[in-house]
Amino acid sequence: MSVYERINIELSRIVKSARCAFAKRLAQRSAGKGEAMKLKVSPPLYLAGMKVSCWRRNSRMPVVALVAPHVAGKEGQVCVLSNIEEIPQEILLFIQKRVPTFQLRSSLMGGSRYFANTCPSCHVIYGDSFLHSEPGAPFFPESNEAAKSLYLTEIQLSDPIEIQALPGIGVGELILSNGKRICGLRAAGWGRATASIRYRIG
Ligand SMILES: [Zn+2]
Repeated sequence: MSVYERINIELSRIVKSARCAFAKRLAQRSAGKGEAMKLKVSPPLYLAGMKVSCWRRNSRMPVVALVAPHVAGKEGQVCVLSNIEEIPQEILLFIQKRVPTFQLRSSLMGGSRYFANTCPSCHVIYGDSFLHSEPGAPFFPESNEAAKSLYLTEIQLSDPIEIQALPGIGVGELILSNGKRICGLRAAGWGRATASIRYRIG
């Protein structure tokens, strides 16, 4: 059992035993909506992203997420993965080559540790719950137009992989059909050049 699974079990135990609303809120915040789980992901796998304003100092920062159309047990659903706790090294390298600020960090509320989008200038975390769970958030687009702000590139996979993450369901299809497809090479400057790529394509 991984340390993350143990933490999740500990958190659920705290939530169950304590009638304290604060502990419950804390557990929900730290694990997003639910708990990260081991997912078997078959190709294709996509990296989606855009630039947002850092909530602390308003500077621009890249944020990314994984979009997985084939997750075992979620057939017919395109999943958007958040709260990624474990990921194969080669996938992580693919992401970090483009967005080095995607890093393993503890959530601000403590508890879980996941690969988070961090600000290149002030290093603060833009938490996955804010990027994924609120309608209108970067990875929770509510319209075709909003989904068009995202760019997408395929991460080449030959075999199924395992990712420990939270599989978000509902908007993956919208992102896949509207996101701007960019190729790997063009995406090399993602961390810096996303805005110009967004306006040039389409
Ligand atoms: Zn910042």
